[in-house]
Amino acid sequence: MKYMGREMLKAGPPDYTKGVFQTLGLKEFHEYLMLPPEKKEQEEGKKLLEVSIDNMKMGTRRYARRQNKMVKGRFLEHPNREVPPIFTLDTTDLSKWDDEVKNKAIVIIESFINGSPCEYKSLTSSTPEDIKKLNRHSSNYCEICERLIIGDKEFAIHLNSNRHKKVLKIKNSLMVNTQKAKTVSE
Ligand SMILES: [Zn+2]
Repeated sequence: MKYMGREMLKAGPPDYTKGVFQTLGLKEFHEYLMLPPEKKEQEEGKKLLEVSIDNMKMGTRRYARRQNKMVKGRFLEHPNREVPPIFTLDTTDLSKWDDEVKNKAIVIIESFINGSPCEYKSLTSSTPEDIKKLNRHSSNYCEICERLIIGDKEFAIHLNSNRHKKVLKIKNSLMVNTQKAKTVSE
């Protein structure tokens, strides 16, 4: 950190959107790192350090949320995709690391490699099975709109769309009118 601070002073602030500078815990400390050594020891420096640490914690939480979402979306909730089982390991308490993380991970990996049942339960998808079974390539013909729609999910979306409802409304009112006309002529 010290070395980097000095390098930054010489070269100006780096691009925090590129390479190693995107790393959590670098950009958050930029202002603090730019302080001259004597200022770091003063009230201003200490405050800046505290703020930097808070920002890093916030960034870490945000990153963890994004990662969780990504794992869920890509593995758990993804329809029609064969994925290996996913397990959660609780890393909150570092004093329980060996029991909660390391040993569990070894058991999980060994059971996966050996193809033997695992004593820990993997996460299950919250996507209902019927949604997972939806065919993405099926042809569905909408009689109302006289349109071909590919994919079950897309068809469901179509049936719920304003476009479809609009056509349905027009056709319904046309039908009512023709029926009225019929009754009048009879
Ligand atoms: Zn339609």
